[in-house]
Amino acid sequence: EKHITLAQLKEVAQEAYNQFKSNTDGKNADYIPYLANIDKNLFGISICLLNGQTVEIGDTEYRFGIESVSKVHTAILVLRQYGAQKLLDMIGADATGLPFNSIIAILLENDHPSTPLVNAGAITACSMVQPVGDAKKKWDAIVSNITDLCGSAPQLIDELYKSESATNFNNRSIAWLLKNYNRIYDDPDMSLDLYTRQCSLGITAKQLSVAAATVANKGVNPVTKKEVFEADLSPKITSLISTVGFYEHTGDWLYTSGIPAKTGVGGGVMGVLPGQFGISAFAPPLDGSGNSVKAQLAIKYIMNKLGLNVFGGD
Ligand code: GLN
Repeated sequence: EKHITLAQLKEVAQEAYNQFKSNTDGKNADYIPYLANIDKNLFGISICLLNGQTVEIGDTEYRFGIESVSKVHTAILVLRQYGAQKLLDMIGADATGLPFNSIIAILLENDHPSTPLVNAGAITACSMVQPVGDAKKKWDAIVSNITDLCGSAPQLIDELYKSESATNFNNRSIAWLLKNYNRIYDDPDMSLDLYTRQCSLGITAKQLSVAAATVANKGVNPVTKKEVFEADLSPKITSLISTVGFYEHTGDWLYTSGIPAKTGVGGGVMGVLPGQFGISAFAPPLDGSGNSVKAQLAIKYIMNKLGLNVFGGD
């Protein structure tokens, strides 16, 4: 395995930042009003090594909407509470090849919603969070799991939560279609609300790189040293991310970047390179599939420049 130093990472991340800073491609998510108005010039890159050292460039302390990156965190919580086999049985671990918000994902497989990393499976995951039936305690479990992974607490962006709750018609349909097929395990409206709220949590790029590094480090948070989950869950999490982290463009992403990563329409991307580091990048303008343009460019640049690849580097 290649040994990458902090100095090398700093240099290459700075190059990536300089090179893509003025890129104006893509546009902010506009189907959630709050996200449409975020400063489109924000840009940050954060890397956390497994010894806890970090690289921070640009806006890595800005709190943005975690959005779909939270699907990884809550999948981890479900793995912690239920174990790997139950997640497979009750949700699944398949690629969908479909956009994140696809309602068809539910109908594709007749036994489960396919993966916790698309909207359908993520709403099911929220329904599974224990204690089932208790919205308050479930929410506390979701937030405390994210806090463990990131090493510090996320903060609800109230305006984002309101904005998203008022416009989430598609997700409401997903929740009730899941109910129709008995693939949701708590009250559908409550599960949907937990999902919407977790997507509205404010997080920084720095926090996401620590969470990614916790996965890369077999469950031990490299900054706080806390064991967040059991080591054998780590490859399960990375496999989920690899399969569907960029939705219908996951194959293209892995092929060109060499790193399993998960995106969110808030502009964040979080990547896991097992045994090496966690990386995140944040920039609001998105491509047509809801993935941050500059975050993708930056992470690809860093991986390729350093000759790193989860399938074997040079
Ligand atoms: N909350 C958003 C939604 O469900 C998250 C989507 C995403 O980040 N891809 O539509």
